[in-house]
This record gives sequence, C-alpha cells and structure tokens, in this order.
Amino acid sequence: MTHTHSDRLIRSSRRNPCPVCKRTKDADCAFSPDRARVICHHPRTDLIARVSQVGEYTFWKNTSDHRAAVFLLDEFERRQW
Ligand SMILES: [Zn+2]
Repeated sequence: MTHTHSDRLIRSSRRNPCPVCKRTKDADCAFSPDRARVICHHPRTDLIARVSQVGEYTFWKNTSDHRAAVFLLDEFERRQW
C-alpha cells in the first residue's frame, strides 16, 4: 500500500481541468497533485478495468458506489515494475 501525503486530491476547475474528461465547469473530478491518479466523475461501463486506455490513462475501476471512475497514468503503473 502506498499512502502518502500526495493522497490529498486536487479538484477539477477552470485552472485544473480533469486529465481524463477535461472537465472544467465544476469540481466533480479529482486527481492527485502529480496527476498520476484520477477520480473522474463519470463512471464507465464501456471500458475494461486495467485494460482500456483513455489518452495516457488506464481505466482502473469504478468506485464501489459506482459514482466515479478511477484512472491511473501509464507512467504510474510502469513505476511499479
Ligand atoms: Zn473527469
């Protein structure tokens, strides 16, 4: 488990568009300060967990309440090797 201070999340905003869906109109998406981990407001049923890509991001899973989708930057995954 990697729990660090970087677990503090940035919310989407005009200054900080969501890296996955480019949301800027409100703060419904959130992501880690290094943008390696994104909690996007749109849960995805069209994507395959840990396989499907959106841009540089891998769709990881929907949250357990199915209200958001978790994406990880490819780079982040590669660092685990
Ligand atoms: Zn988003």
